[in-house]
Amino acid sequence: MFIYQNYKEIIEELSNDVTLVAVSKTKPVADIMEAYEAGHRIFGENKVQEMVNKHEALPTDIQWHMIGHLQRNKVKYMAHFVSLIHGVDKMSTLIEIDKQAKKHDRIIDCLLQARIAKEETKFGMEFEEIERILFSDELKELGNVRIRGLMGMATFTDDESQIASEFSTLQELYQEMRSKGSDLDVLSMGMSGDYKIALRHGSNMIRVGSALFGERNYIANP
Ligand SMILES: *Cc1c(COP(=O)(O)O)cnc(C)c1O
Repeated sequence: MFIYQNYKEIIEELSNDVTLVAVSKTKPVADIMEAYEAGHRIFGENKVQEMVNKHEALPTDIQWHMIGHLQRNKVKYMAHFVSLIHGVDKMSTLIEIDKQAKKHDRIIDCLLQARIAKEETKFGMEFEEIERILFSDELKELGNVRIRGLMGMATFTDDESQIASEFSTLQELYQEMRSKGSDLDVLSMGMSGDYKIALRHGSNMIRVGSALFGERNYIANP
């Protein structure tokens, strides 16, 4: 019941052009069904095996997003169904996604993860690398991946101005890439603790776990 109420509260605040990814990692299938019955269809997981298991157990109209750091050798297990891969941070990963997508005759949507946090632990590419990939001939040859946008995670801090400034640098990169002709339409930023800040900086996709499903009982760091 609390999931339903949390869901309604979050959804009510969002404008129509913002997509909510309900981050269900570590949560049981019953919790996902509760959000599903409230009308939600987009769920995010950070471990491939867990996402595969849930995909097999749950209704087929759910769109599964992989939000975690991706190991190349795991791509093949989700290539037949994954809807969006958020955490791409290497050209070699894109090449593998393309190869696996081809086997299933699909085009897999991806986001490039940018490093915006000051913390050493956060993954992601430098901005120059993102620009290089977006306009590379190498990318044009990958017919079965489509880069839809950018993803970033802010530093885990109470300092809202720091979070805002990190989101704002990614918003600028996103706008700059679009103005240079890259065909991006997704800016994935914001989690339970900082999505309101992210929305003020142009995010149109938020990834919310604990504010929806309740706290997880482990420290999340994919
Ligand atoms: C776990 C996770 C989230 C959701 O975190 P909450 O703080 O529970 O909302 C969002 N994005 C990524 C990449 C995650 O790993």
